[in-house]
Amino acid sequence: MAMNRVQFQKGLSMSEFLKRYGTVERCHAALLASRWPTGFICPHCGETPHSTFERNGRPHWQCQTCRYQTTVTAGTIFQATKIKGAFSAAC
Ligand SMILES: [Zn+2]
Repeated sequence: MAMNRVQFQKGLSMSEFLKRYGTVERCHAALLASRWPTGFICPHCGETPHSTFERNGRPHWQCQTCRYQTTVTAGTIFQATKIKGAFSAAC
């Protein structure tokens, strides 16, 4: 029987995964680096000046040009996550 190349593809080991994403802070940093690698860019107007604040324990970014408010998970697959105290608390 042929080897299933999808199942046996090289990937992250559990220890490497935890090293990269194992804490809320690391997860948040990875999302930030992925979404805004050069810093915040307003998804509404494209400007970069912004302020940050917390609402319901979650960090938010507000564009200083158009006042659009967003989170690092808005518009991503993590947007509707209901996991409390782990991922959504910081993201
Ligand atoms: Zn804006």
